[in-house]
Amino acid sequence: MRLELTTEQEAFRASAQQFAEAEVRPRAAEIDATDRFPSDLVRRAGEQGLMGVTIPVAAGGAGRGYVSYAAAIEAIAAASATLAAILSVNNSLVAEVIARFGTARQREAWLRSLATGAAIGAFALSEPDAGTDAANQRTRAVSDGAGYRLTGRKVWVANGTAADVFIVFAATEPDIGGRGVSAFLVPADAPGLHASATPDTLGVRGLGCRDLDLDAVRVPAEALIGAAGGGFRIAMWALDGGRVAIAAQAVGVGQAAFDEALAHARRRRTFGRPIGRYQAVQWMLADMATELEAARMLVYRGAAAKETQERSASEAAMAKLYASEAAHRAADKAMQILASAGYRRGSTVERLFRDVRATEIYQGTSEVQRMVIAAHLLAGR
Ligand SMILES: Cc1cc2nc3c(=O)[nH]c(=O)nc-3n(C[C@H](O)[C@H](O)[C@H](O)COP(=O)(O)OP(=O)(O)OC[C@H]3O[C@@H](n4cnc5c(N)ncnc54)[C@H](O)[C@@H]3O)c2cc1C
Repeated sequence: MRLELTTEQEAFRASAQQFAEAEVRPRAAEIDATDRFPSDLVRRAGEQGLMGVTIPVAAGGAGRGYVSYAAAIEAIAAASATLAAILSVNNSLVAEVIARFGTARQREAWLRSLATGAAIGAFALSEPDAGTDAANQRTRAVSDGAGYRLTGRKVWVANGTAADVFIVFAATEPDIGGRGVSAFLVPADAPGLHASATPDTLGVRGLGCRDLDLDAVRVPAEALIGAAGGGFRIAMWALDGGRVAIAAQAVGVGQAAFDEALAHARRRRTFGRPIGRYQAVQWMLADMATELEAARMLVYRGAAAKETQERSASEAAMAKLYASEAAHRAADKAMQILASAGYRRGSTVERLFRDVRATEIYQGTSEVQRMVIAAHLLAGR
């Protein structure tokens, strides 16, 4: 059993880290302060192969596996949680869906531009009454013979302010739950698609979250991804990958918080000694490092399962559950170790403390991850 990245995986991780250190980290505070979607950095990330990491080279992607992708997301997140979240949506929730379920025409129209960063994708599943209960779609897609008209409201669509294309989920057959949900590719300039609100957020600022109103948006029949009624299954398949990426994002944020805490423990002196000499501080550092390493292993396990299995819901849920909660604890302990120096608005640890919280909420809350894991256990899988 190997517990190390292969040479190829490590090379991809290292190149992502180099990009993160040189170009992303210097921008992180500004992205947070202005809450502006970093379009230029996203374009640069595309040039590094980070917008379509697992998409085949022939289709414009980097042609890497999920472990390389997760390792790269961790490296980016250590510099900017926001950019890591943007990349995770474009990769796992949009490009991979089109690569796996799209028709030849859909792949031709969108895959290369999404994988290279020439276009940005977004995933519109959540609604005012369909967050955790995602199958409870109120958005309707009504067939008119040659196509569909989509009417409803989507909320919290990350990448939404900059997206060129949305995967929109809607009920083609209402009242039968998930089995009546279908997925559609909707270009951002489709008539009737309006941005209704832009939520102001605690963290991962600059993610370009947007609420969308769909006012009888007309799409041709070819906009359907997969079969009618297959949309919910597609969403869950996408989340198997997305949750691994969010787990990797959490590890990156937690690691950045740990690095800040370790440096402070060496530097800050009280009673004539560095605070790292006190056992109370040492134990916090030891717990942070141990939990983050455990989280990283679960991320790689989830990523390896995604590489080799058609579904990897339980492995992804375990990775996201543990990594997001471990990273939350790490950010909290980092704040304790930095004390007032961390609590000051504008400090790195203050930003990480805010950024990490979303990892326990989006792409399924921690409660949802526990539900998924328990369902697998009880089913004897
Ligand atoms: C920054 C951000 C970005 C996002 N980006 C996207 C995006 O790009 N696309 C998208 O579609 N959505 C996105 N979302 C939405 C996100 O997926 C939902 O917020 C999330 O799924 C939770 O839904 P909710 O907020 O409606 O909470 P609710 O569903 O209202 O849940 C409230 C609380 O009740 C708990 N709960 C609910 N049901 C149960 C149950 N059966 N058992 C136990 N506990 C339960 C939940 O865990 C939670 O603690 C984003 C959200 C945020 C904050």
